[in-house]
Amino acid sequence: MKIQNRISLIFTILTAGIIASLSIFIYIFASDSISSSFFHRLEVRSDIVGHAALQDNKSRTSIYYDIKEKHLGDLPFEEHHIIWESEVEKAKKLKERLPVPPSFYDNIIRKEPARFFKNDTSYVGLNIHQSGKNIIMISSAVDLYGLEEKENLKNLLLMGFFISLVFVFTLGKLFSAQVFNPIRRIIRNVRGISAHSLHQRLVIEGSKDEIEDLSHTFNDMLNRLEITFDIQNNFVSNASHEFKTPLTIISGEAQLGLSLDEIPEIARDSFQTIFKEAERLEHLTNSMLSLAQTGFDGKKDQWEKLRVDELVITVKEAVNKIMPSNKVEINFDNLPHDEQMLTINGNETLMVAALANIVLNSCKYSDNKPVDIIITADDSNSIIEIIDRGIGIPDREIAQIYVPFFRASNTEQYKGYGIGLPLAHNIIKMHEGAIEVSSKVGQGTAFKIFLPYR
Ligand code: ADP
Repeated sequence: MKIQNRISLIFTILTAGIIASLSIFIYIFASDSISSSFFHRLEVRSDIVGHAALQDNKSRTSIYYDIKEKHLGDLPFEEHHIIWESEVEKAKKLKERLPVPPSFYDNIIRKEPARFFKNDTSYVGLNIHQSGKNIIMISSAVDLYGLEEKENLKNLLLMGFFISLVFVFTLGKLFSAQVFNPIRRIIRNVRGISAHSLHQRLVIEGSKDEIEDLSHTFNDMLNRLEITFDIQNNFVSNASHEFKTPLTIISGEAQLGLSLDEIPEIARDSFQTIFKEAERLEHLTNSMLSLAQTGFDGKKDQWEKLRVDELVITVKEAVNKIMPSNKVEINFDNLPHDEQMLTINGNETLMVAALANIVLNSCKYSDNKPVDIIITADDSNSIIEIIDRGIGIPDREIAQIYVPFFRASNTEQYKGYGIGLPLAHNIIKMHEGAIEVSSKVGQGTAFKIFLPYR
């Protein structure tokens, strides 16, 4: 998950926790206050009814009743139970009928507030003493208005909770996108810097924050890299020049010697060997320089649209020149109809060099047995398969074939330097492609090259 999304999520979870705790607190506090004000109202009414009863001695004619009936009206499901000191039986029956706990009665006797709430009904109990008479009042009623108020409050808090979550998440996303903008800009800038454009630097916006520090650090690193690359670049071009000139002179001199008529046979053989070895050394030097260059030089400015089938034909022509007796067959049977699926973006010279190296290996390590090249395509790649019936590569060595100068243990009779495949591998990687190999000793080797089409 991207840091930006992670931040919005953590932000939302934290805020959700805070809002939920606050809502629960508000709900508990508000319902307590609603309940206690209703208990109080019920106690006042219970007291009025109790005093009325004490005055009238069980008839309902007192001024207290008048006040209650006229001014207070009835609460929903309002009930009053009056228990006189002498009515022990009535008290017992009532105890069985009402759902209040024993502590409720204990509180009444101790003249402490007796309040109880069950199944939406509120119960209060009073112990009233007047003019030598004592009664216990137990009153109950349902606070319909309060219940509705609590329900409304609950719905409101729940709705507020979910709406604020949506807001917090959206704002969190916007906020984190804002925070990460400078980092995204740095990523874009850094992506644009390749070995070819090492002189580019990140723009410093003078924000005096960590982002500015990061940009400075990147720029310092680029300064150091540029110096190192310059040294390496110069070394490569100098070495190329220094090696090529003497080698050309050596082969030229050898050719001159060979053109003379009156030299002895033994000297001719010697010149022949010098000429052949100088050619090989030149080839080796060129390959080594190409390998070094592909390591850091994308040559993207020389890239163009290339047709994979045409590339393969050019490779075949190149192989014909180097190994005229090769038996390379190109199989066009599975060629995709859509030519888009055969068009890649790349550097022709490099691609031909890479593919030719692989095909030449197939001819070399199979002593010129037939080699098939099959061109196909999948959802996103043009695919070139090169299949030979040669000596194969031992299983435990297959992973090392792209390591420069590595040669498998079964190649003693074959000449080589272990440079061709690493070079081909680098070139294919540079083209954002991939290479797969499968091989069986004594049976042959198949290379499968995937090149993304555009
Ligand atoms: P070399 O000059 O030795 O051919 P490469 O870099 O081209 O160097 O190949 C590296 C090694 O990979 C070879 O030495 C060989 O062991 C193995 N290899 C490459 N292609 C084949 C093949 N078609 N058949 C068998 N072995 C191969």
